[in-house]
Amino acid sequence: SEALTRAESLIRTIPDYPEPGVMFRDITPLLADASALRTVIHALIAPFDGDFDVVAGVEARGFLLAGAAAMEAGAGLVPIRKAGKLPRPAASVDYALEYATATIEAHDDIAAGARVLLVDDVLATGGTLAAARTLVAELGGVVVGTAVLLELEALGGRGVLGDVHTVFTA
Ligand code: IMP
Repeated sequence: SEALTRAESLIRTIPDYPEPGVMFRDITPLLADASALRTVIHALIAPFDGDFDVVAGVEARGFLLAGAAAMEAGAGLVPIRKAGKLPRPAASVDYALEYATATIEAHDDIAAGARVLLVDDVLATGGTLAAARTLVAELGGVVVGTAVLLELEALGGRGVLGDVHTVFTA
């Protein structure tokens, strides 16, 4: 749609951030635009209408989308955090980065069998969302969908995750 095309045009590309050779996609101009924000939140959750009880968002930009999506859908919100931020993490999952490992954690505020929509801003290699799926499952939630605003196709995340809903691709 025209509204989605306009929203996509508000994603800014920043060369050589955070390191040389990386093209960083910055969604903050899109978030700052009321109409674009509303349009992308609707597109993010549309395939899962009524199918989820909770939106789980990955720190930090995933929080922004997950909060808006949860309110729009009448669902709850669970933050998935980077290691060391939560007072009482109930589960934690390690995953590989290019030259290091990372850890995500969450509290056990997901009811057993709750239907969870996983949300993040950008899909790159898929490592983060694959780990997030494992984390939600360890907490007893059922991941009914994985949704991202922007998929960076060249990085192959779809091959890792399989089923993923993406609003934009680059
Ligand atoms: P992955 O685990 O390789 O798929 O990386 C995805 C994670 O890195 C997400 O949490 C994104 O927020 C972040 N990320 C990777 N590339 C970008 C980018 O170009 N812009 C914003 N975030 C990014």
